[in-house]
Amino acid sequence: MMDMHNIRRRTFLKTLAAGTAASVLGFPAIVGAASQRVVVIGGGTGGATVAKYLRRLDSNLDVTLIEKSAIYTTCYMSNEVLNGERTLESLQFNYDGLKAHGVKVVVDEVTGIDYNGKLVLTKGGISYPYDRCVLSPGIDFKYDAIAGFSEAAIDTVPHAWKAGPQTLVLRDQLKAMQNGGTVVIAAPPNPYRCPPAPYERASQIAYYLKKNKPNSKVIILDPKTSFTKQALFEQAWTELYGYKTDNAMIEWWAGDTKAAGVVEVDVASKTAITQFGDRVQGAVLNVIPPQKAGKLAFDADLVDSTGWCPVNKLTFESTRHANVHVIGDACMADSLPKSGFAANSEGKVCAAAIYALLNGQEVESPSFSNGCYSLVGKDYAISVVGVYRLSDDGKIVEGIPGSGGTSSLTATAQDRLFDASYAYSWYNNFTQDVFN
Ligand code: FAD
Repeated sequence: MMDMHNIRRRTFLKTLAAGTAASVLGFPAIVGAASQRVVVIGGGTGGATVAKYLRRLDSNLDVTLIEKSAIYTTCYMSNEVLNGERTLESLQFNYDGLKAHGVKVVVDEVTGIDYNGKLVLTKGGISYPYDRCVLSPGIDFKYDAIAGFSEAAIDTVPHAWKAGPQTLVLRDQLKAMQNGGTVVIAAPPNPYRCPPAPYERASQIAYYLKKNKPNSKVIILDPKTSFTKQALFEQAWTELYGYKTDNAMIEWWAGDTKAAGVVEVDVASKTAITQFGDRVQGAVLNVIPPQKAGKLAFDADLVDSTGWCPVNKLTFESTRHANVHVIGDACMADSLPKSGFAANSEGKVCAAAIYALLNGQEVESPSFSNGCYSLVGKDYAISVVGVYRLSDDGKIVEGIPGSGGTSSLTATAQDRLFDASYAYSWYNNFTQDVFN
């Protein structure tokens, strides 16, 4: 028979796995028997979540979070900075909330992992021993996949795909642009961080241009032939930005049309050269390069030939090195997208798995959730949600048939307004869940 402790723990774990869990915030921490050490690397969405929830599961656990920056800037909502609706500061969080949960926060850069000694190595010279280690290092860019492009060029041709100074470079270029200019966005190939975000970005920029520089437009050059929430985006672009008319403020050039994926950039003239040899010049050129797991994942030998980290989906333990888990954008999680919401869900599942493993318990089969709002204009948002589980053989994360969905194509203006207000509520609740 299950005792009370187990019933409460199971309920807690299920709630953790179910998604952003404002409802679990009042739950008391469970005191485990022994103090064991977990070192979490990367204090972004995934890392902050796993560190916090490990401490919530076991207040005896010694949890150290190592993050290279004292302040985290969320990418979510950063497209709103581009049109001046929001400041970069409004997206920034420190780690006081995690410290209040008993997480030891170290600001330093991790340089590698000594797998034999079970030590995390840092630039500051201190080594941190672990029983279990979790990495959530985010993404890096394959600059060399685009001829003529490099990290040295990003102050002229920004990606703005990690929120921070890059977001401000792109915002300032939009501000400085003349009325009548063209903004060219080079969208990345799959898989990449936040599938709807390039299209939300195009929408947010068009919203800014419509208000301030109405003779201007945005062209999206895309190596893909379709994208998430496409019908909803295109409907919104038609209603708001004259999509597919002579005065369209957004044009989407897909991978099967003449000009599409960008293979070369002439930085000086801000010209994108496509796979078909077309040259598209922008007054502003925003190149979002193809992506791969964050550099540390490569340095620590956690990546395979895909450029991402293979993991056991039950525990998020690396299939390359034991006792080390990888979550968030850097890992391969099948149908779960590379989103903050998914990183948060994975962080909770991983915390529960580590708790079980450290205590010699069975790891329960998890479920995951993802949700994403895209703000496409003033008081106008669209959304998608999905619920996921492990396949019967335990190897693949798959969508649960009949769960989730998108906002409706027949929604009213009032519904779009509600979705916009839910987007802002989601941001506040979500960042509270991750950082406080
Ligand atoms: P990150 O949050 O990037 O965290 C990685 C952390 O690791 C960083 O803080 C970094 O400093 C640290 N780090 C890396 N290497 C080291 C090292 N060697 N030593 C120490 N620290 C290190 N997601 C949503 O769910 N909803 C949205 O609406 C949404 N909008 C987005 C809009 C845009 C424009 C973009 C670009 C992304 C958006 N996302 C959204 C995606 C979301 O931001 C990411 O999926 C999420 O941040 C992934 O979390 P992560 O923990 O994997 O990586």
